Amino acid sequence: MSNELAKKYSLYAVANDAAPDSSLEGRQCENAKQPASICSSCSGTGWEFVVDKGVRPCHCRTEVRRAKLLADAFIPKLYSESSLQTYQPSKGNLSQLRAYNYAHTFVRDYPIIDRGILFMGSVGVGKTHLSVSILRGLIEKGISCRFYEYRSLLKEIQNSYNPNTNTTEMSILAPLFEYEVIVLDELGAARPSEWVQDTIGLIINGRYNEKKLTILTTNYLDECQSSGDETLGDRIGVRLRSRLYQMCKTIVVEGEDYRRRFDAQQV
Ligand code: ADP
Repeated sequence: MSNELAKKYSLYAVANDAAPDSSLEGRQCENAKQPASICSSCSGTGWEFVVDKGVRPCHCRTEVRRAKLLADAFIPKLYSESSLQTYQPSKGNLSQLRAYNYAHTFVRDYPIIDRGILFMGSVGVGKTHLSVSILRGLIEKGISCRFYEYRSLLKEIQNSYNPNTNTTEMSILAPLFEYEVIVLDELGAARPSEWVQDTIGLIINGRYNEKKLTILTTNYLDECQSSGDETLGDRIGVRLRSRLYQMCKTIVVEGEDYRRRFDAQQV
């Protein structure tokens, strides 16, 4: 609302109870990319003028917040199209259907959910896709979320010990406890060591104690499929694996490596 309008009308607050404008759905607010001063509904004031009624918070406030939450989530570009709308459980694959349904339930019911999720399964069955989809759904609800890749996170923490870098261990660890929901992708992918197990234990336990949910994916299962295989317990330690039963709902996703389809399409 412009200053001129504000002077002209005596204003009072209007509840933002109008039916949502479906034309706005999925549309990126102009303010997300451009300076706040140019939103056509509120001229950057954050308040929208309603004829004969008064003012109400402008829709762009919510959109700006969503855009910020999305940027802060650091979802890898590779998963920029991943959402519940683009996930298609393979025909007849009950494990994928269950995982997909639970992802929906998680987004719908959050914050009335008391455990995170541990997606387990072989490579390419859509564990990361589903995890990212959940983050997107939660961001739509205004929840702060962040995606972390297990190995990169550990590397960043390790690098912070180097006196020549500007980062400190605390500057990397602190945000991990602030986000309401995080995804930790590829749990167990780094070579297990006492330091790795302690560090990951600290993060996952710390978040749980703060009642913050963690969504994990892992390519390791609880039982060896063939000799020489390692279990998740081998990779992260049996104590942490045991704690995860309490902190997360385990969802095993089975199926073919979806990436093979991309290869088949190229022939
Ligand atoms: P995982 O984490 O289990 O290794 P990803 O989630 O990374 O697998 O999936 C690999 C690729 O296949 C991604 O590009 C993902 O979007 C896609 N993909 C996997 N499963 C599905 C599915 N059921 N529907 C649509 N895309 C899928």
